Amino acid sequence: MVSPLINVIDHRLFATRMPTTFAAERTLGRLGKWLRLMGFDTLLESEYPKGAFIQGIGPDRIFLTRTQRYVGTRMGLNTIFIRANAPADQVVELIRKAAIRQEDIQAFSRCITCNERIVAVAKHAVRGLMPDYVWNTQANFSTCPKCGRVYWKGSHTERAMKRLVEIFRAPSGAKK
Ligand SMILES: [Zn+2]
Repeated sequence: MVSPLINVIDHRLFATRMPTTFAAERTLGRLGKWLRLMGFDTLLESEYPKGAFIQGIGPDRIFLTRTQRYVGTRMGLNTIFIRANAPADQVVELIRKAAIRQEDIQAFSRCITCNERIVAVAKHAVRGLMPDYVWNTQANFSTCPKCGRVYWKGSHTERAMKRLVEIFRAPSGAKK
């Protein structure tokens, strides 16, 4: 009797555009890295001193948690509770709950390590910073302005992209 109403409320909640910047609890670090890979600005608790994380999360971020007691408005945060255990399933769950659309994703636009936007860089500028086979087979490179890590679209990025596309192709009933 009560649950249909809850469903309606949930649906409305998620149908409005939620912020698409995130803050991931310590136990959701791998999900957080996936979000960076998809181009979303994501803070990771594991990168902050103990106890300094939650207080610093602004209202413009969705706090991702596996801790039931954090859910709700008690902390004044936008919160999404992640139920799934496997990171790949967590990605699917988050995409559904945050109503992320395929066009919201800018894959490989952000440093996985620093959360900074990466910028395209001339090929000659990064010579010697990657294995020869990469230099010989790739034309486009980007670099992180903060850590200097060089990114290129290799086979690992293609695999990750394929996985993302599969997530969006899956029937929306893929509720995990
Ligand atoms: Zn970086």
